[in-house]
Amino acid sequence: MSAKPVITIAGAGLVGSLLSLVLARRGFSVEMFERRADLREHQIGAGRSINLAISTRGIHALKQVGLDADVMKYAIPMRGRMIHSKNGDLSLQPYGISDDQCINSISRQILNKVLLEHAEATQKVRIHFNGKAANVDFDSKVLTVFDEDKKVRTKHQFDVLIGTDGYASTIRTEMMRGSDYHCSIDTLNYGYKELTMPAAKGGGYLMEKNALHIWPRGTFMLIALPNFEGSFTCTLFLPFEGPVSFEKLQTPADVHQFFSSEFPDAFNLIPNLVQMFFENPTGHMDTVKCGPWFRNDDALLIGDAAHAIVPFFGQGMNCGFEDCSVLNELIGDAGEEIDWAQLFNRFYKKRKDNTDAIADMAVENFVEMRDKVADSRFQLEKAVEKILEKRFAGKYISRYGLVTFSNVDYQLAFQAGQIESELLAALCQGIESAESVDLKMAEHLIKEKLSPLFKAQLGHQ
Ligand SMILES: Cc1cc2nc3c(=O)[nH]c(=O)nc-3n(C[C@H](O)[C@H](O)[C@H](O)COP(=O)(O)OP(=O)(O)OC[C@H]3O[C@@H](n4cnc5c(N)ncnc54)[C@H](O)[C@@H]3O)c2cc1C
Repeated sequence: MSAKPVITIAGAGLVGSLLSLVLARRGFSVEMFERRADLREHQIGAGRSINLAISTRGIHALKQVGLDADVMKYAIPMRGRMIHSKNGDLSLQPYGISDDQCINSISRQILNKVLLEHAEATQKVRIHFNGKAANVDFDSKVLTVFDEDKKVRTKHQFDVLIGTDGYASTIRTEMMRGSDYHCSIDTLNYGYKELTMPAAKGGGYLMEKNALHIWPRGTFMLIALPNFEGSFTCTLFLPFEGPVSFEKLQTPADVHQFFSSEFPDAFNLIPNLVQMFFENPTGHMDTVKCGPWFRNDDALLIGDAAHAIVPFFGQGMNCGFEDCSVLNELIGDAGEEIDWAQLFNRFYKKRKDNTDAIADMAVENFVEMRDKVADSRFQLEKAVEKILEKRFAGKYISRYGLVTFSNVDYQLAFQAGQIESELLAALCQGIESAESVDLKMAEHLIKEKLSPLFKAQLGHQ
């Protein structure tokens, strides 16, 4: 293969469009095929996370291609979780220990647009819309592309093919036909439905702008993220089946009754709620674990195509963007004559355990969001955790902080989280308020249990 092969990308979503830019900046020409029409000319349909939370890992990847400022000017900082109880009481649980530790709400469409525009502006990226990757012949290195509107099939010869075609990836399906591959897809028995809370009349927000709102109700929840023009996108997460579930919400009266009793304050702020509920699709959520993500020196999977996760840690896109940073660094280290098989193998080894770790933490975080945040014991532990993070800065970093406000391996965050939950349980035993926590005992436990992990993995503390 020539030193600078043309790279073919399937899927111009968030990860594909960022990857094309990364590769163009490294001097590669890119041919990118996207199943849908150009989203700069067509509104994307309601349903699949209109907005999402971007945090440190995602911003770091944007910084590498010089786009952090261009993107972040459209983002709204969310400093904590605003918990809505049934009786209308509100309480804010801050995400970090300082104001700059926040997550940021951004429109999927705007983010994708900015990335596509900058990718095309390099003049090294050609995007073929309405170009669905339909199947791959790896032996002859031919990708068959199907235009679903015109019903036309074309053949495209590739040097290197990268699948960024999302959680239901065709490239993955094609690769996984080989006997050396494995793939598991766990579908959560919960669905989600998006609903829009409009901006206030005359502009402005109907609820606190700088927060991620949560209505935790034990086995289900509603959340809301702010949009740039004053609206909120609300998402209901509910089991498909069971006593309180989508299957029980069959008529307008069912939906009216459910929302007005479970989320009365939100219900009063969403006109057309019942109509939207029946018009908008119900999404499902998958965890995809597969491997290896590459085939010899000719094909690789990244982003959701390789490791889709459930959305409860707000990390799917951040993790996919981190894939782009890691690949970028590996290409930088590889020099002029790239051995693609070796590069793909290195990438897979560096990422696989980490993406498995965030997949598991995302599932765990669902229970935290829909249930534990409303529990007084959990709130006490979180309050103690905040005290420890401030008092023992750099020595105690919460799992949430490691995942969301740092670039350390997800695996380290996972291991630290296990130690921290034991440590918090011990420190909260027998106390009623966070201020009574025994700081001497905390210092001792941190030194004994947490510091060795940070020292081994990060070389300090
Ligand atoms: C409800 C919800 C909330 C979320 N919230 C967050 C959040 O707050 N923070 C966060 O970081 N992540 C979040 N995520 C996860 C995030 O949406 C995904 O991780 C991210 O979109 C993955 O990007 P991707 O480019 O890999 O895949 P996608 O965004 O799915 O893009 C894939 C692209 O490939 C195209 N495509 C598909 N098949 C083909 C084909 N055969 N040929 C050509 N093109 C194809 C698609 O049209 C699409 O443009 C959320 C997800 C959901 C469902």
